[in-house]
Amino acid sequence: MYRYGTHGSPANNITSNFVWPSDTFSSSPYFNDRGLNGTAQPIIERIHPHSRPIVSYYFPKGVGAHHYGERHPMKPARLTLTNELVFGYGLHNQIHNIYDVRPATREELSVYHDADYLDFLSRVTPANQSEMRSLIEKFNCGEDCPIFADMYDFSRMYAGASLAGARKLCAGTTDIAINWSGGLHHAKRGEPSGFCYVNDIVLAILELLRYHPRVLYIDIDIHHGDGVELAFYQSDRVMTVSFHKYTGDFFPGTGKLDDNGYGAGKNFALNVPLLDGIDDDMYLTIFKTIIEDTVASFRPSAIVLQCGADSLGSDRLGAFNLSIAAHGECVNFVRAFNVPLLVVGGGGYTLRNVCRCWTYETSVLVGVSIPNELPRTVYDSFFADSQWKLHPPLSGRVENQNTPASLQRITISIRNKLRYLQGAPSVAMQEIPPDIQGFLKDEERSQEEIQEEISTASAGEQRMDPSIARNEYFDGDKDVDHDSSPPTPSPTRVSRGSARRGRGRGGRGRARGRGRVSSASVVDEDDDNDDGSPPPPRKSSRGRGRGRGAKTRVAVPELKRTPDPPTEAESDTPGASHDI
Ligand SMILES: [Zn+2]
Repeated sequence: MYRYGTHGSPANNITSNFVWPSDTFSSSPYFNDRGLNGTAQPIIERIHPHSRPIVSYYFPKGVGAHHYGERHPMKPARLTLTNELVFGYGLHNQIHNIYDVRPATREELSVYHDADYLDFLSRVTPANQSEMRSLIEKFNCGEDCPIFADMYDFSRMYAGASLAGARKLCAGTTDIAINWSGGLHHAKRGEPSGFCYVNDIVLAILELLRYHPRVLYIDIDIHHGDGVELAFYQSDRVMTVSFHKYTGDFFPGTGKLDDNGYGAGKNFALNVPLLDGIDDDMYLTIFKTIIEDTVASFRPSAIVLQCGADSLGSDRLGAFNLSIAAHGECVNFVRAFNVPLLVVGGGGYTLRNVCRCWTYETSVLVGVSIPNELPRTVYDSFFADSQWKLHPPLSGRVENQNTPASLQRITISIRNKLRYLQGAPSVAMQEIPPDIQGFLKDEERSQEEIQEEISTASAGEQRMDPSIARNEYFDGDKDVDHDSSPPTPSPTRVSRGSARRGRGRGGRGRARGRGRVSSASVVDEDDDNDDGSPPPPRKSSRGRGRGRGAKTRVAVPELKRTPDPPTEAESDTPGASHDI
């Protein structure tokens, strides 16, 4: 499937049109010189065996060109790097569909987010910050959620990609949808949090719920997936499972073992609080045990997997010891359930490892092996410190404070919660009709409904030709990756992939009505408890006693975990002086 080359061997068949200015790192003596280290040659076969799942890859053009700020640890450039490696390995030849997508519309965002918050996001800019100061404070923008140029467009882009992936999964025209630009799991319905402005995951799950009776959300970011958990805290149609570091003061400060959901959603939120330094063996053991039990109990009809890469060892903000192989094994384990799967990114602050991780996980999802040698890309010198390897050693920098006993205690506790689930009527009494019933259900629908579904399933997708896709984000020598102009919505059209509607896996018959999902499935933060019981632990919103500062919860913003600016050697920005 691939070939190894060494220095002096023919260059990649795929080359980039991108040309760096003459004074960049590309002119360093190390550029393109790997010595005795090998170079991966790209996969060139475009064979899609029927045994493999259909994979769709979403990458909004220009999403990687945004900047939170020079010293901010969140660097969308990691998305550009990931894309370069994915295409450098030739994985695009094994991916069935590659899409640029239109940004999510205001109306699509408003399915979850508050109107006044969206008004604010769409209006605030670095230039008008001073006149909007009171609103900036009201909405809790600040150090870790700064106001930066085109942040609303950036948010619409990554959200549009997750929505498009969810729609394609609903249509049954893909088995796996990948959006590495998504996964911003901290955003709340009325305020940003932890580098996240719009919660693409919640929006995507709401879209999946239009069709799927039960959606399982799995979060392997080192931070608690609080925004997603909060949105569905009272729902029994969405089960959230978050594996994260929990000490009480580690951002976002939530996600303790006893937080299980509320009302109808009781026991439909699971939290796996871990301590610093967890290693591959421990993490994989507890992850596989809990996910296997959860899938068996909840029987999801779709899964959303958030793959935050800050749980890797050596992350700039993280404190775990996971290798890329172990992180990817979690992805592989979830993939093996053969349930429609939306995979999104998330955190990850040591850029060179984030892009390695998500590239490797793309290969895992596609189902092909890729060599440990990195392919040649324009960012070659960025990976020199690891001898251009896909799997550098990342472990062992933090002492493992977890013990077999502490993990066993968590596992037993979660199993007890899942035992309650077995008797939950909303799950146990739901029948999944056989395929023939789904087919008959389709026949019942009117032509208008069918047409609507076709439009919805393909809305915003702009399919790319994989043969030219590698450089689609570089428009030639004049495009220096500064494409910050807001993308224009592309006209809706039925992609080639959509013509295969009906493939699916019988999922169509599982729908419980096709209308917009009831707002009851989303936690209404303003709801009062009707039984006098304690409120959900994260029942909060701006101006109502929540957020950072003198509020009830002491949370350490992620940014504050970076006491020192990165030295040149530590800098995660490829060609840091160029600030890509
Ligand atoms: Zn994170």
